[in-house]
Parts: sequence; structure tokens; C-alpha cells
Amino acid sequence: MRQTSVILCVAFVLVTACTITTPTTTPPTGSTPTTINRTETLPTEADQRFAQQREQMVVKTIKNRGITDEDVLEAMEAVPRHKFVPEEQQPQAYGDYPLPIGFGQTISQPYIVAMMTELLELEEGDQVLEIGTGSGYQAAVLAELPEVEVYTIEVIPELAERAKETLDRLGYAHVHCKQGDGYYGWPEHAPFDGIIVTAAPDHVPQPLREQLAVGGRMVIPIGPRGGYQTLWKFVKQPDGEMKAYNKGGVAFVPFTGRGIRGEEEGGGWPP
Ligand code: SAH
Repeated sequence: MRQTSVILCVAFVLVTACTITTPTTTPPTGSTPTTINRTETLPTEADQRFAQQREQMVVKTIKNRGITDEDVLEAMEAVPRHKFVPEEQQPQAYGDYPLPIGFGQTISQPYIVAMMTELLELEEGDQVLEIGTGSGYQAAVLAELPEVEVYTIEVIPELAERAKETLDRLGYAHVHCKQGDGYYGWPEHAPFDGIIVTAAPDHVPQPLREQLAVGGRMVIPIGPRGGYQTLWKFVKQPDGEMKAYNKGGVAFVPFTGRGIRGEEEGGGWPP
């Protein structure tokens, strides 16, 4: 046993020494000896660690809290959330809380992402519109659902651009991204079987209501700016009425843009 340890130690020292003296390898600053070979080994170790954390997250914070849709659970396990947050936030990527993504915006907590995705009840062949691309994470989760076509709109140009890059890089290039005010929806591709709004307006934007297919589901937080809101699920009836289901209290960043301000007087609430 002791002999084996000695051999392993010698091997480690040799590997370390080789790595340090290899001209192409730059030792990272502040590293400990065990991470010296980081350029080759860390990405794999990190990926494995993140994958384990993701697996735990799905069981502890999503499955155990009542999400049962297998497609949603698989999607949550498939999407590398850490790759959608700024590098300094990556160690926290699998905790059940929102994280900052810049420009005063946040990526929602994983449980809420899973719950809203489940509430959409998407099926193969459906198309879904997301308002508030942010980091692109929720769009990627939707894109993991089998045969679902995803459209997403972000109002902040820098976030829209960054999300598009992230989605392309991670294999979600088929997600349709647009920069603009999501208040007006995406009429060219309507009707949508699902509409998910990930910023909080104080009423349902009329264009979104119109762009929802009959039988379609809209999941949207509604409430006062900067306060707590109520998460609503609406199902559009054949006569155009929206059947409403209260899904509890949530806290989302405000829905911005000109559209929502223009409808302040006599807007679409109650729907
Ligand atoms: N779904 C995102 C997080 C949403 S944060 C994710 O998975 O990362 C809410 C986002 O909605 C912010 O990026 C904000 O800029 C955006 N937003 C707010 N009002 C909007 C509007 N009118 N149209 C489109 N996007 C909007």
C-alpha cells in the first residue's frame, strides 16, 4: 500500500514537473500543485462536477417539489445552466435561486423555470414564444422539449446578442431569436401554442393574448413594478376568453419597453 503511494507520489511529481517545464503550458496564477495541469484536466472535471450538481438540483429542488413531467425533468438535466451565467456566478449555477446576468436582469431560479415550462404543457409540433430571453437559459430548456419550435424576444440589445451567441455555441442555433419589445409579440409566426413571459408586466399585453392559439397556454407573472407578482396560467377558450389559474406569488424583474407604458390607461387586465 505504502509502496503504491510512493510510486503515485513520484508519478505525480514527474507529471507536475513535466507540465511546468513544458514551454506551451502556462501555470495558472494562484493554483495549487494539483491543478497545475488545469489546461487539459479541469474542463472535464468541472463539467463532471457541474453535471453532478445539475443531477442533484433536478432531484432535490425540482422533482421533490412536485415537477413530474419527464420531458421537463430531462430538459432541466440536459441544459448546462452554468454556461448561461457570468463566469464568477458559475459556482452558484445549480443553487435554487436567481442569479444576476448583467444590465440589472436575472436568470430565474431553476424551480421556477421548470414549473413555468411544465405549466405550458407543450407537445410535439407545438410552437412557443418566450418574452424576455435574458441569458437564453429558459429558451434552451424549451428547445430541449421534443419537437417544440422556440421563438424568443429580448428588449435589451446587448443581452439579445449575447444570448444568441450562447445559444448558437451550445447547440441551440435553431432557437429563433429577436431583439425588440416583446409587448407586440411576433405576429409573423403566430399563433403560438404556448407563450411564456419571464418579466413582469402589470397587465396582459393585448397582442400576446391575440397571438395565443385557441387552447394555447400563457404563463405570465403579473403585478406592480418592483413588487411581488402573481404567476398566472391562462388557457385561451374557443370564444377568445382566457381561463385563469392562480399559480402563486413570484418575484420577477419588470417588463419594460414602450408597449407596456402605452397601455397603462385601460389596459388588458383583467384579461
Ligand atoms: N428568461 C431569462 C431571464 C429573464 S430576466 C433567462 O432564462 O435567462 C427578464 C428579461 O426580460 C430581461 O432580460 C429583460 O430585459 C427582458 N424584458 C423585459 N421587458 C421586455 C420586453 N418588453 N420585451 C422583451 N424582453 C423584455
